[in-house]
Amino acid sequence: MSFDIAFLGTGSGYPTPFRGASCMALRLDGDVYLIDCGECSQTQIMKYKSIRPGRVTKIFITHLHGDHLFGLPGLLCTISMAYKSSNDVAECIEKEDMNLPNNAIEIYGPLGLRRFIRETLSLSHSVLAFQYVVHELVPVKVGNWHSKEPDWEIEHKATSPLHFNEMKTGRAIFYDPIHRGWLISKDKNITVMAGQLRHRIPAFGYVFTEPSKPGKLDGKKLAEAGVPRGPLFGKVKNGEAITLDNGTVINPNDYIGPDQPGRKVAILQDTCDSWGALDICHNCDVMVHEATNENAHIKQCVENGHSTPSMAAEFASAAGASTLILTHFSQRYKDKNLHENMDNDSLVVDTLAAEATENFSGTVVNAYDGLIYPVSRRML
Ligand SMILES: [Zn+2]
Ligand SMILES: [Zn+2]
Repeated sequence: MSFDIAFLGTGSGYPTPFRGASCMALRLDGDVYLIDCGECSQTQIMKYKSIRPGRVTKIFITHLHGDHLFGLPGLLCTISMAYKSSNDVAECIEKEDMNLPNNAIEIYGPLGLRRFIRETLSLSHSVLAFQYVVHELVPVKVGNWHSKEPDWEIEHKATSPLHFNEMKTGRAIFYDPIHRGWLISKDKNITVMAGQLRHRIPAFGYVFTEPSKPGKLDGKKLAEAGVPRGPLFGKVKNGEAITLDNGTVINPNDYIGPDQPGRKVAILQDTCDSWGALDICHNCDVMVHEATNENAHIKQCVENGHSTPSMAAEFASAAGASTLILTHFSQRYKDKNLHENMDNDSLVVDTLAAEATENFSGTVVNAYDGLIYPVSRRML
């Protein structure tokens, strides 16, 4: 399965011509999972052409701040246009058959997201060419950070009527102590978990994990043990012990390599404390972590609910990540490749990656709009 991350917006707060507001996509073969959708994300999608809007099947919103969310209603309308160009859907609409279960877009995010989408689409009289469903993550109280426990019953049962395209099967997802996080979905291709992060409002990080693959059969060793190529090879590969005519017992464990762990990506946006998500991030191949300001501004950064490069690096180290990708940079940081007229006083984004390398021995990458980062499988 192809597995890469397309960065579409890597700035914090608001979009500029140099960095969009938060938006990225996991590209999994034909499917696209979108993570966050800040203002202007759809123009970023058109500019970089790294994803096709009609391929978005799932959307994950980290939290309800506008720089992660304000682009979503508009993008849903644009995706709708992509669907409308499909003959199949046109036919369904013609027959007034709006029940398109295969095309329902699943949207995940903190409590309140359903109401935001429902109200914005309803008030703007937007009708989509597909159905959507919103599953809400119910946060827990984090220390004294939030003034009170979110009242999920009130929010979950938001009283405004369903939007025309909204399916009523949206779930409330609670913390699951067995999985030490919020178990969002699990299928043959990928498992998605969420972990709560500390921020000014309830915020979640998402972890995407492929299932592990069975180890490889060592055919040469098996042949040398006297096993003829053919059906017996298949039996050993399936974990079956076999006995040869000469009485030799072939134990599959001696001929099959260790399982290959699936690839694992953790995406942690706005946070000043990611440690509550440590268990679910363990041994990830790629960790995308926010680093809004440089280390010298740690006090103000944490007060605003954000992280410095060192904070991101310490967490990535503790999680055993192989690669750390920094993102969500304050728009004050400039990129030598994009900005003209930089002077000696300009803050440069390269500083942030350099600071992270002091606390992290793996690869550190600064994200930029348009970056596509392939997630490779760890070799054992
Ligand atoms: Zn943000
Ligand atoms: Zn935020």
